[in-house]
Amino acid sequence: MAGVSRLQYTTEARLIRVMCSGRVDLEFVLRAFSNGMDGVFIGGCRLNECNYTTHGNYHALNMVLLCRRIMEHIGLNPDRLRIQFMSSAEGILFAEVMNEFGNKVKELGPLGKGEGIDPSELKSKLAEIRKLVPYIKVVKNEKLASRLKRPEEYDQLFTREETDKLFSEVISYYIAPEQCQACMICAKRCPVEAIVSAKNMIHVIDQEKCIKCGTCFEVCPPRFAAVSKIPGGPVPPPIPQEKRTIVRKSQEKPV
Ligand code: SF4
Ligand code: SF4
Repeated sequence: MAGVSRLQYTTEARLIRVMCSGRVDLEFVLRAFSNGMDGVFIGGCRLNECNYTTHGNYHALNMVLLCRRIMEHIGLNPDRLRIQFMSSAEGILFAEVMNEFGNKVKELGPLGKGEGIDPSELKSKLAEIRKLVPYIKVVKNEKLASRLKRPEEYDQLFTREETDKLFSEVISYYIAPEQCQACMICAKRCPVEAIVSAKNMIHVIDQEKCIKCGTCFEVCPPRFAAVSKIPGGPVPPPIPQEKRTIVRKSQEKPV
């Protein structure tokens, strides 16, 4: 409506259309900041007026509330991210909100610089958090599906302490060499090829590549139960390559 009505609003915004505000993933927002955007604005339909049964705008709201806490955790001003609900007929409101947000972002200054964070430090912090997006979504799954009734509840959905704890107690996954039977199931299901796999070889997780989605833990057959979770602490070093071969009983030479 804002365009059709020829309403003026900030020219610094770049619009990306999606079918539903719920489609805007946490990763998209963090990617925008990684690419140097100074602010991210999400416009969604009014709550409880969703065209779909999924009520994606609640998902968008919860994602924004979580992302704002994550931004605080890494030292960014959370006001760089805003969500506003409005109908497509509310062109005047859209223009007003965009102008207000544009002015706010200008006031905050360039991303990181306004907060006094070193650019390379910010880049590495954002890269680290982006790598953990699948983990964050699994851990905060229930809260991300909440339907908060009143705006007064928004601040309490995710607390600062909870978010700090989320990152200080990140779970790592480890394959116990003595239990792994090289069935290869985990390697086939790992979404980022983080498991070093070969036939008849004990499998090993490449901790640098692992995004901590927990799939290997879920799919390792219970009779092997070779994958374990290690909260916070260091992960044992991988066993050396020359000790990874599994000799099956049928392959053992008779004495
Ligand atoms: S948790 Fe397991 S399945 Fe998920 S990325 Fe890490 S190694 Fe792969
Ligand atoms: S699923 Fe379990 S037993 Fe099979 S290769 Fe992976 S860690 Fe080893």
